[in-house]
Amino acid sequence: VISPGAPDIPAPLANLKIQHTKIFINNEWHESVSGKKFPVINPATEEVICQVEEGDKADVDKAVKAARQAFQIGSPWRTMDASERGRLLYKLAELIERDRLLLATMESINAGKIFSTAYLMDLGVSIKALQYYAGWADKIHGQTIPSDGNIFTYTRREPIGVCGQIIPWNGPLIMLIWKIAPALSCGNTVIVKPAEQTPLTALHVASLIKETGFPPGVVNIVPGYGPTAGAAISSHMDIDKVAFTGSTEVGKLIKEAAGKSNLKRVTLELGGKSPCIVFADADLDSAIEFAHQGVFFHQGQICVAASRLFVEESIYDEFVRRSVERAQKYVLGNPLESEISQGPQIDKDQHDKILGLIESGKKEGAKLECGGGRWGNKGFFIQPTVFSNVTDEMRIATEEIFGPVQQIMKFKCTDEVIKRANNTPYGLAAGVFTKDLDKALTVSSALQAGVVWVNCYLVVSAQCPFGGFKMSGNGREMGEYGLHEYTELKTVAVKISQKNS
Ligand code: NAP
Ligand code: MG
Repeated sequence: VISPGAPDIPAPLANLKIQHTKIFINNEWHESVSGKKFPVINPATEEVICQVEEGDKADVDKAVKAARQAFQIGSPWRTMDASERGRLLYKLAELIERDRLLLATMESINAGKIFSTAYLMDLGVSIKALQYYAGWADKIHGQTIPSDGNIFTYTRREPIGVCGQIIPWNGPLIMLIWKIAPALSCGNTVIVKPAEQTPLTALHVASLIKETGFPPGVVNIVPGYGPTAGAAISSHMDIDKVAFTGSTEVGKLIKEAAGKSNLKRVTLELGGKSPCIVFADADLDSAIEFAHQGVFFHQGQICVAASRLFVEESIYDEFVRRSVERAQKYVLGNPLESEISQGPQIDKDQHDKILGLIESGKKEGAKLECGGGRWGNKGFFIQPTVFSNVTDEMRIATEEIFGPVQQIMKFKCTDEVIKRANNTPYGLAAGVFTKDLDKALTVSSALQAGVVWVNCYLVVSAQCPFGGFKMSGNGREMGEYGLHEYTELKTVAVKISQKNS
């Protein structure tokens, strides 16, 4: 994801000041209707960074009114040239680039991201996604169709309307941009609920939305909690679509709420238990590194984590030994500091959940090769952990861990490993490592996953669709497919006196 020519990394911003802590509706800052606020925590220090206004159903209602008003027929947003929507998205990308250092510092402090990763990867991916969808804005169009009879038929791709977007804490800025960029490119209006743990970069981007010149009500950002503000979005009668990224458990609630309310359109990007398969003929150095990054990147808090690593019998022992050596290289600590390579987990709940799963691995008979406990006494840190001799039915091999914990399993042959890799309710991502082209293609087609990486892992870019099979989600984000999820298709049939071929 990090392109050649990536910028040099400066030092993080010293004395970051948090300017925006309120609810953003109609390009204005609002206090919560209830008067409540909630604390935002730095997961590396457990200190409170600031208090943010706590949005709730009443605030979501206000945001929906604003977004509906902005979407009215004849409104500035609806009558704007599509190319102008593109220009606004492009300008927003430029403002994010201008504030890159501030946003990267904020992401590091609030989300526990290694600063250099935030600066290069999170900011880089966000800017590119905006630029990509800026380019699409005036290229979203229908067809003319030779229908039967004296009829002239054309199709239009129209915006769906008011879109609710509920996002998680593991990539707060990227998730925000992945949601708003395609929605705005197509001409929708949005209400975003950031994750309760990580509202800060979204609120800074809100200020940039206003500075860019988007009409009031086009983008609204309501920080708050899932069961209140989030549920108000998914069950709202006047929201036309909900897009959600997060756990499969909450994904089910979102779909249920949509079904029980107004059958709003639903797209879901959920969890995974992604298999990564390494054949004995693979380039071992490269496979070890990709498989490692695949599960340890951002403390393992990624939906595509390669958390079931299948290694062919003949190279198993060497692979385990070298994976352990790699995992032991981390320096844990405050992710703002340049020598640190592993930061904290997002909060105490996640920290404790991961420790519980590690304990289950020990109890169920997996071999703990390294790590296996918490690190330090302040902040939500977990030692990089590797388990070998893992079998398919162990909890660490079936449940999403979302932490720096690698499970290495052994396999004998191709048919066997395909069956085992697919034996999960999830289907988000998969990896295959081999130099044999036939094997690579055969296994890639057999795997039930929305993305299969061959001799690489974690390759995500704005041009390519991303999403899950099975219980890893519905629909796709990014690429041209990502646009389709934000349009309704209308067929217009016009009677004419005579058609000619
Ligand atoms: P989560 O609860 O699914 O959170 C995702 C978003 O949904 C947050 O904004 C959350 O609000 C909101 N939400 C929660 N309950 C809701 C409800 N009833 N109605 C509407 N929205 C609701 O995820 P989590 O609790 O933070 O993490 C739990 C597990 O989810 C992790 O261990 C991991 O396995 C998985 N996860 C997956 C991804 C991914 O990228 N696929 C991302 C994050 C987590 P709050 O801020 O109040 O939670
Ligand atoms: Mg939650």
